[in-house]
Amino acid sequence: MKALVLEAYNQLVYKDFPDPDVADDEVLVKVKAVGICGSDVHGMDGSTGRRIPPIVMGHEAAGVITELGKNVKEWKEGDRVTFDSTIYKLDDWYTRKGMYNLSDGRMVLGVSPGEYRRHGAFAEYVNVPQHILYRIPDEVTFTQASMVEPVAVAAHAVKLTPLAQNDTAVVVGCGMIGLFVIQILRARACGNIIALDLDDDKLALARELGAGVGLNPKRDDIRKEVEALTDGRGADLAFEVVGISETVNTAIDSVRRGATVCLVGNLSPRAEIPLQAVVTQQIRLQGSCAICGEYPNVLEMIARKEVNVDAILSAEAPLSEGAIWFQRLYNKEPGLIKVVLKP
Ligand SMILES: [Zn+2]
Repeated sequence: MKALVLEAYNQLVYKDFPDPDVADDEVLVKVKAVGICGSDVHGMDGSTGRRIPPIVMGHEAAGVITELGKNVKEWKEGDRVTFDSTIYKLDDWYTRKGMYNLSDGRMVLGVSPGEYRRHGAFAEYVNVPQHILYRIPDEVTFTQASMVEPVAVAAHAVKLTPLAQNDTAVVVGCGMIGLFVIQILRARACGNIIALDLDDDKLALARELGAGVGLNPKRDDIRKEVEALTDGRGADLAFEVVGISETVNTAIDSVRRGATVCLVGNLSPRAEIPLQAVVTQQIRLQGSCAICGEYPNVLEMIARKEVNVDAILSAEAPLSEGAIWFQRLYNKEPGLIKVVLKP
C-alpha cells in the first residue's frame, strides 16, 4: 500500500509501505479520510518526542472495513467506521472503572513515544481492534467523521467540568479544540461564552459558532472585560486549550471564586500557577485527557448538525500531497485550521 511515512524528523515521504497485519480481534480499514492533528504537526520535528521515526502518523480517521480478523463477529466488510485514537486494553483496572483513557499500556494510533510504535492512518489501510470502532451514521460523511476525534476531546473536557444552565464560560484559545469546546458548551445550554485568542479571524469564527464575545489579549484587559460581563465576579468556568504558563494564568485569572478551570492544552510540559490565588479562591483545576466514551454522542450531534465540523475544515487534499500540507500547517499559515487528507 501507499503511506505517508515520517522517515526522519521533518521528512515526510509518500511511498510504498508494507500492508498492515490484521490480528484476530482486529479489522482492516480502508482509509477514506484522515485529519492532520496539531499533535502530528508538533510531533513531526521531534520536539514532543512522541513521533520517533519511522512512523506512519494519523489518529483521526474514517473509512470502510475491508477485512475481518477471525474473532470479529459484530462487524462486516463494507461497514463505514471511525475509531478511537486510543487503543486500550479491556482487561485493565482503569478500563473496568470506566476510565479507559487512563488505562495502563494504552497506545495512541500513529504514535511512537519510545515504549511502543503503532502505525496510524496516513495510509491506504490501517488495522484497528474491533472494540474501538464506531459506526458512522448515514448522514455523516467520511470527512466529517474524521473530525469526530477532536470534537470528542472537547466533549470529554466539557463532561468533566461542572456546568449549570446559563453559566458564563471563558474559552482560552480558539484553535480547533477550542472551537469545538464552544460548540459543545452551546449545545449544553451554557450562557454567555467568552472566547479568547490572539487572532481576530479565529475570534470571528468563534462568534459564528456560538461565542457571545471575542476578546483579544493583545488589545483587551481580560480580567476587566470578563468582570464587566459577570457582575464583577468572573466567569463560572474556564477552558484552557493552549497549554503554556501565560494562557493557564489567563484562564485562572478570568474565573470567579469556587470556579473550575479545565486544562486541555498541554503544549509545554510545565506551567507556573498562582498557587495562593488558586487555594484562597478555592479554584478547581481539572485536567482532561483525550476521550472516554464520547464518540457515539458526538457522531449523533454531528448528524443532527448540533456541532458544525465543516466550519473548521480548511482544505481537503490527496494523501500524496500530505508533506506539503504538513509544512503549511507547520508554518502556521494564516486561516489554516483543519486539513483532511484522502488516500
Ligand atoms: Zn488529535
